[in-house]
Amino acid sequence: MEINKYKSSIIKKENLNSDTIYLQLKKPENYDFLPGQFLQTFFEDVKRSYSIFSKPSSETLDLCIKCLEGGKASEIFKNISVGEEITISSPMGHFIITEEDIERTYIATGSGLAPVVSMIKTSLEDYGHKSKIYLLFGLRHEENIFYKTELEELSAQYPNFSFDITLSRPSENWKGNSGRVSVYLPEKIVTRKNNHFFLCGSPEMVKDVRKLLIENDVDMKNIKFEIF
Ligand SMILES: Cc1cc2nc3c(=O)[nH]c(=O)nc-3n(C[C@H](O)[C@H](O)[C@H](O)COP(=O)(O)OP(=O)(O)OC[C@H]3O[C@@H](n4cnc5c(N)ncnc54)[C@H](O)[C@@H]3O)c2cc1C
Repeated sequence: MEINKYKSSIIKKENLNSDTIYLQLKKPENYDFLPGQFLQTFFEDVKRSYSIFSKPSSETLDLCIKCLEGGKASEIFKNISVGEEITISSPMGHFIITEEDIERTYIATGSGLAPVVSMIKTSLEDYGHKSKIYLLFGLRHEENIFYKTELEELSAQYPNFSFDITLSRPSENWKGNSGRVSVYLPEKIVTRKNNHFFLCGSPEMVKDVRKLLIENDVDMKNIKFEIF
């Protein structure tokens, strides 16, 4: 497959939490993508993939990047500044939604939220979907939580959207849900077996949740996933 390369530049850079950054890139002309797709970034010998956090209708291309200690691209992104140029690929990937208005359940951990936000916001805001959309968002500690306010606003505005956050290693003070997504999920799936499931995050999470869904009679063809 031929990969087109585009020049872009950093418009905005913010911290979403202590190790996750939000980058807003200038969207190249005629850069069309589908909600859920990713792009590649190129820095000399370092080529990495990042899902697009923003909606196709948005004027910018937004990314949500978890900076790993000692990671090559992570170090570059930690030090990159607004105004700098960056080379990106054309969009790619098949972890996408269609315009079909169907019930969907999303399960994301960490920066796996990126493609899921693009999908959910496009469904609600641009496609006008009325079917139920549920998101289970898993993180480790309280300080890893990000995008909660935006998700709360979205659920207040769209009654067909709901979400839960669950922490795998919360502090004693945490009053919310705790446990990995695979621990928290079973009671939720009972009423959602006919949904289309979209999983995004670590290989372990995707493997565990996929197994759990199949054991609970969810049809394999209704499970899509992206592994980071
Ligand atoms: C389709 C797709 C979409 C993705 N979307 C996103 C996204 O939206 N957001 C996001 O944050 N990530 C995303 N990723 C992951 C991303 O592409 C990178 O893999 C991630 O950012 C780490 O890259 P890095 O160069 O910083 O780390 P790398 O240099 O690749 O290192 C990875 C890890 O290995 C460790 N390591 C490296 N070298 C050594 C060594 N010699 N000894 C011991 N440990 C070592 C590093 O410390 C780090 O923890 C996506 C991946 C895919 C495939």
